[in-house]
Amino acid sequence: MPRAFITGITGQDGSYLAELLLAHGYDVHGSVRPGAPLSGPRIEHLAADPALHGRRLILHHVDLADTGDMRLALETAAPDEVYHLAGQSHIGLSYEIPEATCELSAMGTLRLLEALRGLPRPPRLFNASSSAIFGRPACSPQDEQTPIIPVSPYGCAKAFATHTVRVYRDSFSVFACNGIMYNHESPRRGTRFVTRKICQAAAAIRAGKQHELMLGDLDAKRDWGHARDYVRAMWLILRQEEPEDYVIATGQLHSVRDVLDISFAIAGVDWHPYVRQDQRLLRPFEPVDLVGNPAKARARLGWEPTTSFRDTIREMTEAEMTRFSHE
Ligand code: NAP
Repeated sequence: MPRAFITGITGQDGSYLAELLLAHGYDVHGSVRPGAPLSGPRIEHLAADPALHGRRLILHHVDLADTGDMRLALETAAPDEVYHLAGQSHIGLSYEIPEATCELSAMGTLRLLEALRGLPRPPRLFNASSSAIFGRPACSPQDEQTPIIPVSPYGCAKAFATHTVRVYRDSFSVFACNGIMYNHESPRRGTRFVTRKICQAAAAIRAGKQHELMLGDLDAKRDWGHARDYVRAMWLILRQEEPEDYVIATGQLHSVRDVLDISFAIAGVDWHPYVRQDQRLLRPFEPVDLVGNPAKARARLGWEPTTSFRDTIREMTEAEMTRFSHE
């Protein structure tokens, strides 16, 4: 029975990855931050299953700021694979809490690598890197060779973690890989993120429970995929013979306006009277048209995104409408 350890199992990606690995026959261990309930809302369906919880799904409170605590959890779990997903994942918020963002995403990754290196049988490591490491790149689309020039505290933290993974791979022969992931969404996306915010508002306005929606730049474009596809890429990356880094992206750009059009059309509402632009929601350094080239992932991993942008937004909006219909 292969064993995996997921940091950040309570997050969007952690929950989908846990489902995927359990379906592939893994025993799954997950770290939850101290003080938080052991099974957050995104994994409560798994934790409520008596055939899984405590048997094939084992949850640990782990302080990722403490190398000793991390090492103990890893020694207990003795995983074959570690997926490092824990982190403050919102770029905008990283301007408000830069230290906490870097403490976890940068130093937390270094501590994890140190803990892994000391294990008698070091597991393979996947690190959740981000397109934010590219900042405002001169070339488009970006690939694994694009220079790393971050422009946000979040991007700096992820750049440090990405380089550190490479250093441990090259200097200590740790099987460690970065997935340089572009935005990926789902009904489990955090409520601060623009796609979720729009889908939630479309359903709330339809239900008469919200009357306006404040957004930043409607013409901002992103390369948006579905989280289910991205966690499959994480798993495939650790199946390869050699540890390498991969850009995980759809290669297609869509605007915030596109999200509005699709989501509100599904909800049957015209968005124009409800949307207001708020200058405070513009970032100090808005990334420009970050779009990834997933050619390496396609060729080496056989990975393709399976859920389209439209279907992702549809799934998110329908999930919100279902939620409102139950209230
Ligand atoms: P998410 O939903 O925000 O989940 C983040 C996870 O990290 C949660 O389990 C969260 O725990 C945990 N966490 C946050 N602060 C913590 C702390 N101080 N101590 C311990 N755990 C903490 O993010 P996601 O979308 O699943 O993303 C997973 C990873 O991929 C992140 O590292 C993110 O930066 C990276 N990434 C994501 C995207 C994307 O578009 N989704 C793109 C590129 C890279 P709680 O549940 O307790 O808050």
